[in-house]
Amino acid sequence: MDSPAPTTRDSSPPPPTRWAVPGIGLLKGLAVTGLNMLQSYYRKERMTTVQYPEERAPISPNFRNFPFLVYDGDEAMAGLRCTACSICEKECPPQCIYIVLDRDENGKSLKRPKVFDIDVSVCMNCGICAEVCPFDSIYMDGEYELATDNRFGDLLFHKERLARSTDYHAKLRPLQAAEVAARRKAEEDKKLAAQAAKEAKAKLEKEPKELKAKEEPQKGAGA
Ligand code: SF4
Ligand code: SF4
Repeated sequence: MDSPAPTTRDSSPPPPTRWAVPGIGLLKGLAVTGLNMLQSYYRKERMTTVQYPEERAPISPNFRNFPFLVYDGDEAMAGLRCTACSICEKECPPQCIYIVLDRDENGKSLKRPKVFDIDVSVCMNCGICAEVCPFDSIYMDGEYELATDNRFGDLLFHKERLARSTDYHAKLRPLQAAEVAARRKAEEDKKLAAQAAKEAKAKLEKEPKELKAKEEPQKGAGA
């Protein structure tokens, strides 16, 4: 009987590229720890621990926890950038955002949230809400001391709890906040320039009509 054809796949382990002394990795790790310990007495960057909670290590610029809402100016609720468009609510994977649009007595949209809640016990810190917001309104926070035994009272964040100033944003994420501020200013300048051009055009169109209206009574008087 023929023996089975040899397979092309070799299941044997790859040959070692170099000899490794047993325990060398452990010794290297201990050397790094020893260096850190000794140099931490005179080199600040070697200090890998801080006296928490009295001291806090700076968080990485990419660290993110739960979202917050940005407001402009001094009035948190009046200055919220959020227009209650609900895009973030629709895109949130675990559906932990709840928004109700504010309306006037005639039912007309006031383009602001009456209710804006995030259940942070459900939020999975994905940052999608911050990515999809077209109004630079929602960003990811770096706050991490949120432990509580009050599941519904303390972990359901309302808009008052979510609101953070532009200064807070600039302090937390300087590069992102500066980029957003520059873009918003450019957009605002563009809008103002367009408005000024529109007004100038309207004025130019109005002047000949006024002149004509002035001239007509004079002609009538002369005749
Ligand atoms: S970070 Fe993700 S899970 Fe949390 S509110 Fe935003 S979209 Fe939802
Ligand atoms: S945070 Fe942004 S995406 Fe969400 S409702 Fe407000 S404006 Fe729309």
